[in-house]
Amino acid sequence: MTSGDSTPRQTRGHEGFWASPVTYLKGVGPQRAQFLATQGIETAADLLLHLPRRYLDRSNVVAIGSAPAEEMVTVLGRVVAAGVLKGRKSRFEAIIDDGTGQLSLLWFAGWRYLVKSLKKGVVLAASGTVTWYQGRERQIVHPEFEFLEDKDVDDLTHTARVIPLYPSGEGWRSAGLDSRGLRRIIKPVVDGVLAELPDYLNDDILATNGLLPLPRALAQVHFPDSLMNAEQARARLAFDEFFFLELTLARRRAAIDRRHDGRVCMATGQLARRIVDHLPWALTGAQKRVVSEITADLRSERAMRRLLQGDVGSGKTIVAALALALWIETGAQGALLVPTEILAEQHHHTLTGMFAPAGIQPVLLTGSLLAREKKTVIDQVRSGEARLVVGTHALLSGGVSFADLALVVIDEQHRFGVVQREQLVAKGRRPDLLVMTATPIPRTLAMTLYGDLDVSVLNELPPRKGTTRTVWRTEEAREKIYQYIADSTAAGNLVYIVYPLVEQSEKLDLKAAVAGYEDLRRHFADRRVGLVHGRTSAKDRATVMRQFYQGELDILVSTTVIEVGVDAPDARLMVIENAERFGLSQLHQLRGRIGRGPGQSICVLMLGGPAGPIARERLETMCRTADGFEIAEADLRLRGPGEFLGTRQHGIPEFRIAHLIRDAALVEPARKAAFAIAAEEKSRADQPARQLLWSEWRRRYGRRERLLAAG
Ligand code: ADP
Ligand code: MG
Repeated sequence: MTSGDSTPRQTRGHEGFWASPVTYLKGVGPQRAQFLATQGIETAADLLLHLPRRYLDRSNVVAIGSAPAEEMVTVLGRVVAAGVLKGRKSRFEAIIDDGTGQLSLLWFAGWRYLVKSLKKGVVLAASGTVTWYQGRERQIVHPEFEFLEDKDVDDLTHTARVIPLYPSGEGWRSAGLDSRGLRRIIKPVVDGVLAELPDYLNDDILATNGLLPLPRALAQVHFPDSLMNAEQARARLAFDEFFFLELTLARRRAAIDRRHDGRVCMATGQLARRIVDHLPWALTGAQKRVVSEITADLRSERAMRRLLQGDVGSGKTIVAALALALWIETGAQGALLVPTEILAEQHHHTLTGMFAPAGIQPVLLTGSLLAREKKTVIDQVRSGEARLVVGTHALLSGGVSFADLALVVIDEQHRFGVVQREQLVAKGRRPDLLVMTATPIPRTLAMTLYGDLDVSVLNELPPRKGTTRTVWRTEEAREKIYQYIADSTAAGNLVYIVYPLVEQSEKLDLKAAVAGYEDLRRHFADRRVGLVHGRTSAKDRATVMRQFYQGELDILVSTTVIEVGVDAPDARLMVIENAERFGLSQLHQLRGRIGRGPGQSICVLMLGGPAGPIARERLETMCRTADGFEIAEADLRLRGPGEFLGTRQHGIPEFRIAHLIRDAALVEPARKAAFAIAAEEKSRADQPARQLLWSEWRRRYGRRERLLAAG
């Protein structure tokens, strides 16, 4: 930011109104302002960007006289009678009339606050399902409703206006800020000062992307001439949300590019070549391409900030190893951060094998090391004797420092936040960064989540001698499945049995897993059965896992702790209990644990209870496809972005207006526009139009970015 915080004359109008406190608006006093502040609305801009939740227009309103029963309808009417009906359970009833008929609105609970406001004479819009009461009277129980004015009804019925309905609840209503109240405040703004509001986006961006100018967008989103105009207006404001987020990411990226100059990796690549020469297989085309993308990054003066996206089993580990080998060859250090101890151990094991021909011995740092072992490793890392360290969160601790950390690799990136990522980066002298994820993130989401990173994709799976078939079964098939487990283990295969475990029902879930384990042990007395779950100590868990992938156990019963990264080529059968309770991406991750060796692997999804249509669609999707991207798209569609990556996902941006799926098409153009602006920042920042843009950026992101920069 070159402009500082001074506001030039030209932008006064914008700053003056747009950024003024809500109390500046007519009809908003201290009390309402106080309530609005609890909703995150402090300025005029915040209030104008508080958009209608839906609209009333003639096309979605029916006459009471002809309102069909058992259907969702919206009716308008005047209250002709209202009151509390005493009985075994008191209830509140209001009867409305629109000239074509009468309808009763009923509340059995939560009606106390209605008594004062929902009185004879007021005009309402009410939505809900009409039912018959004892075959005589029509009613809507617990309708959604809005207070309207006579004028609204006239507008709606005679001039075909569209009436905005805002998100509301009891708090809004008692602050006098229901739809009626908000309209009274916003209408004068739209009719007055709004016309003078300058746009923070320049004409170029508007024209290129077919966007409405800001004043018109705000006017049409609150008081649209038609529903189509309202949607066009909303799209402009959704674009703005993406745009300013991308601008933030572009700035972060630009700041890094400026800071990190001069560190060029001078490796010849001989160490990496030695590793490749000793691999029992050849790199796939995709692996070669990504390795060369990374090599170019390491050799350039620009610091690497790269996301490596590759489905489960796409072979990310070797790519990381080769990147690490480049820096290690020069005498610098590399670190690999992973989310779990099991994964740390496995990566340590794999990398030890890969680096052996190069004469490099990776060290392992996890929380469960003995104090003495930990001290040794920390000393080796500090002195530079250890060139490659694999570790868990323990790596982030303040006590760990590096002699010369040049490359940070983070596996299963979605399990870490930006702050953790930067914590490790801060331990080096401008190190390169490679983050890896097996969660195949749909493109739009990746752009908003990781917009400050370059992206490489491993879009080709290594040749597999084996295949995986997926089926779903109900409890009736249990005997058959047990028979199948018996046959499979007899043939030397390893078997995973996975139970769900979620925080809300952790105790019950643990019980189910343990009971399942006991049952299997009884059933397969001649087989070696192991158990791991979230309560198993890290040490015991690692022991059991090791026994399993070294073939000392035949059957592993577990909760979802095996989800990430673990590699056991002889595992050819997986039974997922209560599969209807898992998310799609999670099922896909789990299934990726089998089918790693030659031959046929089978994944059985057990349906443990009734499954709704969405759960059923998840299971069918799993049986139909193994394509991680297709599965991720389906998951995003079925669950929505908020939950898509699970509660462990950090940094999903929250949008007030934009919707990641519905507005997906806006992400890329918004990103393009934002990165172009950021690239010109230095030369153009002093132009008045840019001042507006940057002050809008500060309004939206300034505080958060300063916090992040301060760590
Ligand atoms: P990811 O971390 O992407 O899920 P891994 O790096 O664990 O995948 O690799 C999965 C398995 O595939 C490992 O057993 C690995 O040895 C093997 N593998 C990786 N690349 C190749 C390749 N080019 N050809 C054959 N096997 C490969
Ligand atoms: Mg992996």
